[in-house]
Amino acid sequence: MKLEHIGIAVKSIEHQLKIWQDLLGFTAHMISEAPEQKVKVAMLDVGGVTVELLEPLSDESTIHKFIEKRGEGLHHLSFEVEEIGKAIQDLKDKGVRMIDESPRKGAHAAKIAFIHPQSTGGVLIELSQRDNKDQEV
Ligand code: ZN
Repeated sequence: MKLEHIGIAVKSIEHQLKIWQDLLGFTAHMISEAPEQKVKVAMLDVGGVTVELLEPLSDESTIHKFIEKRGEGLHHLSFEVEEIGKAIQDLKDKGVRMIDESPRKGAHAAKIAFIHPQSTGGVLIELSQRDNKDQEV
């Protein structure tokens, strides 16, 4: 597993981009919407790792609920795995509690699954598998 990106919950991508771009000097290489997850996403390359800014598109978005409860800030770490189905099974065999028992479609044509933060010391961890074959971007 390797760290692929860091997810940050924000109220406004437009506002946060000013910090990331103007103050810190990073550039957003993609801004898109993921309606399945009710979020708008901006990806910034911060030197080998990507920062993913997540803005809720509706009140039903889990990002909206997160911001209501805990405010803006670090939301999840995403680790890239070779085969997500196998990774989920391995973790379950070790007694790890999953939020997603089976992979679902993520924001960038990848398959993702979240581990329950209860099993990982309060840190929300996303497993992601790249799907180059049907990648549209
Ligand atoms: Zn993510």
